[in-house]
Amino acid sequence: MTDFVKTEDMAEALPTTDGPPKDQEAYDRAREKGWSAPEPSNYPAENGTEAQSNEVPFVEEAWMHSAQKYEWSEEFGDVGPKITELEAQLFNPDLKPVKGNLFEKQVSSLNLTSIKVIAEAVERPAPIRDFDNAGLHPVIVENIKLSGYDTPTPIQAYTIPAIGKGYDVIGTAQTGSGKTAAYLIPALSKLMGKVKKLAAPRPNLANGFNPDTDMVRAEPLILVVAPTRELCCQIFDESRRLCYRSMLRPCVAYGGGPKREQMDELRKGCDILVATPGRLIDFMSNHPNLLSLNRLRFTIIDEADEMLHDDWEKEMSKIMAGGDTNEDGNHRYMLFSATFNKRMRKLAKKYLSGDHIRIRIGRAGSTHINVQQNVIWVENNEKQKALYDLLISMPPSRTLVFVRSKKTADFVDDYLFNLGLPSTSIHSDRTQREREDAIRAFKSGRAPIMVTTGVSARGLDIRNVMHVINFDLPSIDYDAKMSRTARIGNVGLATSFYNDKDEGMADYLVKILLETGQPIPDFFAERVPEDKKVDFEDDSGAEDDDEGAQDGGGDSW
Ligand code: AMP
Repeated sequence: MTDFVKTEDMAEALPTTDGPPKDQEAYDRAREKGWSAPEPSNYPAENGTEAQSNEVPFVEEAWMHSAQKYEWSEEFGDVGPKITELEAQLFNPDLKPVKGNLFEKQVSSLNLTSIKVIAEAVERPAPIRDFDNAGLHPVIVENIKLSGYDTPTPIQAYTIPAIGKGYDVIGTAQTGSGKTAAYLIPALSKLMGKVKKLAAPRPNLANGFNPDTDMVRAEPLILVVAPTRELCCQIFDESRRLCYRSMLRPCVAYGGGPKREQMDELRKGCDILVATPGRLIDFMSNHPNLLSLNRLRFTIIDEADEMLHDDWEKEMSKIMAGGDTNEDGNHRYMLFSATFNKRMRKLAKKYLSGDHIRIRIGRAGSTHINVQQNVIWVENNEKQKALYDLLISMPPSRTLVFVRSKKTADFVDDYLFNLGLPSTSIHSDRTQREREDAIRAFKSGRAPIMVTTGVSARGLDIRNVMHVINFDLPSIDYDAKMSRTARIGNVGLATSFYNDKDEGMADYLVKILLETGQPIPDFFAERVPEDKKVDFEDDSGAEDDDEGAQDGGGDSW
């Protein structure tokens, strides 16, 4: 078997991914343990013509922005007819949420998620308990059912009536809490009956599309801004499902994808635009005839805390103010994020109406309580071997491995691959196409092990990630990484490699382990406070910003 060496030295020590596996014994062992055989990705070379190897041909898959959506035809009545093929694709049972058995418990008794609702409003709408009696448009209720959502998650229970009654909303909720649907369902439902009146004129795509004569300016009614391309693609995907059989046409725009094609999609008409801030600003500033935000009814900022850095303030203001010219001023704002920090408060004060509703689910940014967390001592030069041993000792399951640098991501991926494990990797030096392909391979189970830097940590919804391994401990964002697993009640396992180089994280890890009732490893024993009490600073900023608020205080529903 290959000798295990330091990450930095691995470039020389390891074989490349070309050709047959270098360690036949390890390869056979991985098959015995039930892991599927690794398949190399075969991307076109830089010049786009030659392939790097001829083992598995690179499959030209469509970019996310051109994914099929329900196209309305003028002949349709109020609700469009079913399209069996598209329905099967959008609501693929393999991609439906597989609810863990903890989900029902969370929903019925909320013993795992304490809900605190702060309503800076005259009236706090009562939470809904089911989708059927929530006053939602029948088309969206049907799409919710097709998506496999039986019961509203806590955040949905509050946002749906709040938006229904016309309030601005701030949602502080954990990733995986169902927050995408929490803002899309009520916003789409409100618009569904009025699209003919509110939406911009658009071509009848049933007759085909001739750009020379048919193209229109995109004038979305809903704008969703999210920090990463992957998150935008997920939100767009959810929009495609929830808009099924309606007149509403979703589009997505993100950096890294071909701009021209994204612009062509917008020119066919766009009612919901999901975009990363960079590409959106580019479209707004450099292509005045492409996009107008004058019809906006909803501006939604997702993972807002990720975007509100100093250097983004100007751009964010431009986006927030972009749609404030619609005639009747009926424009609602929704801000969602894991934390509610100073910058968020500033943004909220500036743009949200004074009587907005703030919904806070549990401790902002907290790890999921149903993730089993292990911290094990591993020296840096033993990490690769420890990772391999851990993977081979466990039943095959979808596993995310977090590393600190792009170089390590490449090495670790190569290393596992050459020992016969089905791995892939993703980081910011990869092209958008490579990133989409890696995520697709991971989601489909073709490569159930994904090695990644922080790029996919936030907001990425991949179902059934059973194991998250912190090969390198993150200095920030531990909670976000942990919440990749155990989404919607699925019990997950998180393993972190720790050694004395990570001392800065030690107290934080001890707090997390105590908070979630996990066993404390011996090397942390001295750090456990005598009373075993956890003292987290509340990063939601509630205390200094809630004067005069009606505190719903731990309200349950
Ligand atoms: P999000 O927090 O928006 O990333 O959502 C996490 C996952 O929860 C996604 O896979 C959604 O499809 C799923 N989901 C959202 N709402 C519900 C619901 N009411 N019931 C079951 N699954 C849901």
